[in-house]
Amino acid sequence: MNNEKALVWFRRDLRDNDHAALSAALADGQAVYCAFVFDSEILDALPSKHDRRVHFIRESLLELDAALRAKGGGLIVRHGRATEEIPGLAHQLGVKTVFANRDYEPAAKRRDAEVAARLAAFGIAFVHMKDQAIFDGHEVLTQAGKPFSVFTPYKNAWLKRLTAADCASWPDQGRYAGGELAGVPGLDEIGFKTTDLAELGIRPGMSGARALWEEFAAGRIQRYGALRDFPAIKGVSYLSVHLRFGTLSIRELVRTALASGADTWLSELIWRDFYFMILDHFPHVVGHAFKPDYDAIQWESWSAGYAAWCQGRTGYPLVDAGMRQLNHCGWMHNRLRMIVASFLTKDLGLDWRLGEKYFAEQLNDFDLSANNGGWQWASSSGCDAQPYFRIFNPVTQSEKFDPEGSFIRRYVPELAKLANKYIHAPWQMGRGEQEALGVVIGRDYPAPLVDHGRAREKTLARYAVVKKAV
Ligand code: FAD
Repeated sequence: MNNEKALVWFRRDLRDNDHAALSAALADGQAVYCAFVFDSEILDALPSKHDRRVHFIRESLLELDAALRAKGGGLIVRHGRATEEIPGLAHQLGVKTVFANRDYEPAAKRRDAEVAARLAAFGIAFVHMKDQAIFDGHEVLTQAGKPFSVFTPYKNAWLKRLTAADCASWPDQGRYAGGELAGVPGLDEIGFKTTDLAELGIRPGMSGARALWEEFAAGRIQRYGALRDFPAIKGVSYLSVHLRFGTLSIRELVRTALASGADTWLSELIWRDFYFMILDHFPHVVGHAFKPDYDAIQWESWSAGYAAWCQGRTGYPLVDAGMRQLNHCGWMHNRLRMIVASFLTKDLGLDWRLGEKYFAEQLNDFDLSANNGGWQWASSSGCDAQPYFRIFNPVTQSEKFDPEGSFIRRYVPELAKLANKYIHAPWQMGRGEQEALGVVIGRDYPAPLVDHGRAREKTLARYAVVKKAV
């Protein structure tokens, strides 16, 4: 028997099955310890102590610990700087190698480089595995060997390259160790509070992921292409928070999508890889436009407009419904993410980075690559973004994607009594009708913050700096 020991460092991969780093550690008979660090560098920067993501992680760790205990191991959980905790723990345990799954975010890469250097000083190796993506950034390149910056050719190359091996599950049999050191601290011990996850029906952990996934895969996956754009309908998978924290494996999802012919849904999973790849190759997108010319745009400075957008009080019902959904439960439908992002940048003329930051604070599924990609798409500054002159009309979007106003009525109850013909643009109601319904615009619901037609003209003028530059 191999007497060597290894440590698996869990990060955004909170499961004990089909896990590349765990599998690699177990493969050659080493005794495998498992650890997670509540990284104070990340936690200290969070604006609220009632952060649902921290709560979600903590609940998911409990389940992971139990699953590892059933196999003879357990999860060692530390709270502190990961750059110190992991090298310290690895040295204390006397392991030969630390295994982790690769992360593409610039800050994570810097952290991992620091951990690798400290481990090396103890003579411990640090091995990275590909796990959260199907393909790493360098695996799908143009014929000239360059990264793609347009999605469709990337997707075609991705599909062409895909073999069964790329989405096969990793085995997880082997020798687990460390049960006596394991245990998950309470949220209060790390300075956080419980949240409303249970009331919202958000089930963390592998079991929560499995329940959602089985329900989606059993039928809705087939209708995804037809229903995914209608926020009032249960048309999407709601798996994003689980993909974010790795409580289920991307490979299983891709296998099923392929087997069910769910091409549209598979495309969304490929977008996920695409944005990981963009962040990996073009880290300047953090804080800057992908296309540098767009950094010359002069944005408005309008704090009241920004506050109204954040609160869902812009006077445009579907925009407000989307923002209130986000504020209520930490998730927003993709169609609405596109609409509210377009509204912030192209109706209010505000910097996309403000919206990106607000989403980063509020979204349970916040992921730097997808969020940055989505915001740069909407503001036209990104790779393969929509052209700057394509400006969503918030009223026609509402008529098209929430025709009966069902979603608006759910999240903007003060408009619930309005007839369908007014629900998308309530300011068009006459004063008499407003009084009769008890929904006076400007009193019971905000008047529109901007006139869309005029805002559109201003945006075209604002983006003219880019037109001149290209
Ligand atoms: P489904 O429609 O069922 O899709 C399945 C999975 O595919 C998602 O869970 C997600 O992992 C992935 N996916 C879908 N669309 C995209 C996309 N455009 N880019 C990358 N991956 C995608 N997604 C996040 O996971 N985190 C974010 O922080 C995030 N911020 C966004 C910000 C903006 C402005 C926009 C326009 C989109 C953003 N998205 C983000 C993408 C998308 O809106 C969400 O992934 C999706 O709404 C999550 O719901 P779902 O799990 O039901 O998705």
